Amino acid sequence: MEINVSKPFAPAKFKLTPPKDQFGRSITYLRLSVTDRCNLRCRYCLPEKNVHFLPGNEILNWEELHRLTTIFAQLGVIKLRVTGGEPFLRKGILNFLYEASRLSFSKGIFLTTNGVETLPFLENLKVFEIAGINLSLDTLQRDRFKSITRRDLLPKVMETFYQTLFLGIPLKINTVVKAGLNTDEIESLARLAEDNPVEVRFIEEMPQLSGNNQKENGWQFNRILSELQSFFPNIIPLPANGSTAGKFKIPGFTGQLGIIAGHSRLFCSTCNRVRVTATGLMKTCLYDNGVLDLKQLLRTGAADSEIQNAIREKVSMRMFDGFSAYATRGGVMKQSMAAIGG
Ligand code: SAM
Repeated sequence: MEINVSKPFAPAKFKLTPPKDQFGRSITYLRLSVTDRCNLRCRYCLPEKNVHFLPGNEILNWEELHRLTTIFAQLGVIKLRVTGGEPFLRKGILNFLYEASRLSFSKGIFLTTNGVETLPFLENLKVFEIAGINLSLDTLQRDRFKSITRRDLLPKVMETFYQTLFLGIPLKINTVVKAGLNTDEIESLARLAEDNPVEVRFIEEMPQLSGNNQKENGWQFNRILSELQSFFPNIIPLPANGSTAGKFKIPGFTGQLGIIAGHSRLFCSTCNRVRVTATGLMKTCLYDNGVLDLKQLLRTGAADSEIQNAIREKVSMRMFDGFSAYATRGGVMKQSMAAIGG
């Protein structure tokens, strides 16, 4: 698809006051899942077989997704992340991103992708001034990639990695750290940041989202950090600046490192995000059950102002952290990250 744009950005025309929760945290960041479908079957995310993806009419259509992003932008949300499932599997994604790039997301539009089908889109993403790509990559070994994702597709992901860097699109690597899977590669994955301007982020596995509510795998923030310190004794912590990642620099490295304590939930106190799943369920915490059915509102003729009020109301009731959200959800988590959007 060829879309020719100059600078696609329409600044907001009125003063925006983003929704606030009961603890005074403003919501300025939307993570939007545009599909539950994925072309990989990562062991900590989806089962190998019998994955039941949702029928098309249960997923928000592009018109609904565009209306929602507009509503969130009008509410004062300034950062959008488009995720999935695998966002580049959904036909029409480029057009949607182009439309979104014309809204007032002044902090930018970001993408989370596994990189398998991403390469042909990169030049257009550059033209749309996509603010950054997070590429999921748990190993640099082809056999191991095949074993983790159940697909032999590492070369395609690496092509995306190099072309993203070549085009100068800001790049972060997301690596889920899991015992028995890739803990012996922490050093080599970190070294991707040695000569490349990337941030390599090591992510705690969230066992509640790994299917059947698995047990912790023993690789939480402190252990990942000690492992990094054993290879890089000069590693220096950097200010997190509201990021979910604890950030680190290694002297002489071009890029930097991060550790995301999604299971330990160390960053809830500064959380500024809401998620919307592909079915239009808004979650004010990754660990909650979904607090607002936006699809129902969209499909029953609600006006934009009603939807905005409903979002504000649910945000105002947000729990303090992922532990309280999990405690009040009434039952274990049944959704995978692919369904929620990571
Ligand atoms: N398909 C895209 C991708 O692979 O980046 C976007 C969706 S994927 C669900 C988003 C992120 O969630 C990936 O980086 C993946 O590694 C991470 N993820 C999935 N299940 C997880 C789990 N149980 N714990 C921690 N991270 C997980």
